[in-house]
Amino acid sequence: AGTGTDGRGAPGEAGPSAAAIEAGRRAYELDRSHVFHSWSAQESLTPMTVIDAEGSWIWDGEGNKLLDLTSQLVFTNAGHKHPKIIEAIKAQAEKLCTVAPQHANDARSEAARLITELLPDDINHVFFTNGGADANEHAVRMARLHTGRRKVFSAYRSYHGGTHLAVNLTGDPRRIASDDDAGVEHFLPAYTYRSYFNAADEAQEAERALNHLRDLVMLEGAGQTAAIILEAIPGTAGIYLPPPGYLQGVRELCDEHGIVLIIDEVMSGFGRAGKWFAHQHYGIEPDIVTFAKGVNSGYVPMGGVAMDDAIYATFAERAYPGGLTYSGHPLAAAAAVAAISAMREEGMVENALTLGEEVIGPRLAALKDRHPSVGDVRGVGMFWAIELVKDKETREPLASYGQTPAVMSELVAEARRRGVLPFMNMNRLHICPPLNTTAEELIFGIDVLDAVLDLADESI
Ligand code: PLP
Repeated sequence: AGTGTDGRGAPGEAGPSAAAIEAGRRAYELDRSHVFHSWSAQESLTPMTVIDAEGSWIWDGEGNKLLDLTSQLVFTNAGHKHPKIIEAIKAQAEKLCTVAPQHANDARSEAARLITELLPDDINHVFFTNGGADANEHAVRMARLHTGRRKVFSAYRSYHGGTHLAVNLTGDPRRIASDDDAGVEHFLPAYTYRSYFNAADEAQEAERALNHLRDLVMLEGAGQTAAIILEAIPGTAGIYLPPPGYLQGVRELCDEHGIVLIIDEVMSGFGRAGKWFAHQHYGIEPDIVTFAKGVNSGYVPMGGVAMDDAIYATFAERAYPGGLTYSGHPLAAAAAVAAISAMREEGMVENALTLGEEVIGPRLAALKDRHPSVGDVRGVGMFWAIELVKDKETREPLASYGQTPAVMSELVAEARRRGVLPFMNMNRLHICPPLNTTAEELIFGIDVLDAVLDLADESI
């Protein structure tokens, strides 16, 4: 089997060897015997085995070739098996595989320099973490120490990670299980398609969502508020773009009250949205930017907190009470340097922006016209969502919030049979391919989605 327009091997040819498929079978059996998976009831799981990958393509346990519209969990921004990143990791492993965080190291120093170069002028320092959740934990700790205040505001329909504070920041149904007194207040986001404020258009949505946030901050006490944390473009919760003026309004609110603005770019950063960081679409400068995933395409775990000079100054004379054994691990840092350099040299961020505008946007708009179940399509760069509904007029979602209807799983299974792996979340399909995916590959992927969306149409 195997389908595709690019990547290694023609359809049906040059797939993984029989030995690789056999090893994949064994991996699956051992997985079911011994591996505990994230966010799942363990017994009912049937995880897809991945035995190989290259560029925008992966091979499943049976050797089928699939176009990876997920970038895994939206992290392989430079695609799978990028030779420059692999080479950098190998070279670093031979030179100096690991070193403790208290020592200076060339890979880490260069990664910090490159990352701060991509951010606003007054963001000049990076605290490296192992991933996105711990980046947000440390960002909030820094904001609390900087302001001497405790409360933090985060949005419903957000995702900030699975550790203690991060899961409390997260504004989705998974938060409930671990909710406790973490000093977090939640606000309703600006989400024009499903406005919580009865807004008729984006301008009204921005204005009303800002008034709501402003009221909450006042009622909870601006003088006790350390930080507001927001994804520039919320990802896991639906890739919904903030209406014009919204993020500027949040920035102004923070400025008025000395509140630290933390922009979580863990998913939206490093080119995903067609700019190095998604907040750059909206003309704001955060005090802190958190990142992970695309920083090195997830080849070696890495995240970080990039802070401006004012936050940094708080810890110039006073010790920062926090640290991680693997902060700025040389293998991860070398992978970051290579990934950022490759993205620059190969124009991946520009490719994401252009193909988002010229290929993905118009083709998804056509799906919306054709399919009664497609309520909304939205996105920018290589960061898109299709939202499925029972009724276009009422916008009743195909599933209520927090649930996934059976038809969504059927739809993804059919897409896989046809050689495409999309990401599914509740009533949405997310399209987040590597940033160097070609127009031809995207057209193939969206054509398959077009065909399988008939299943959703039939279900309504
Ligand atoms: N923040 C955002 C916006 C994310 O999308 C994620 C992961 O999906 C996280 C934080 C958590 O990152 P990690 O899983 O690396 O801890």
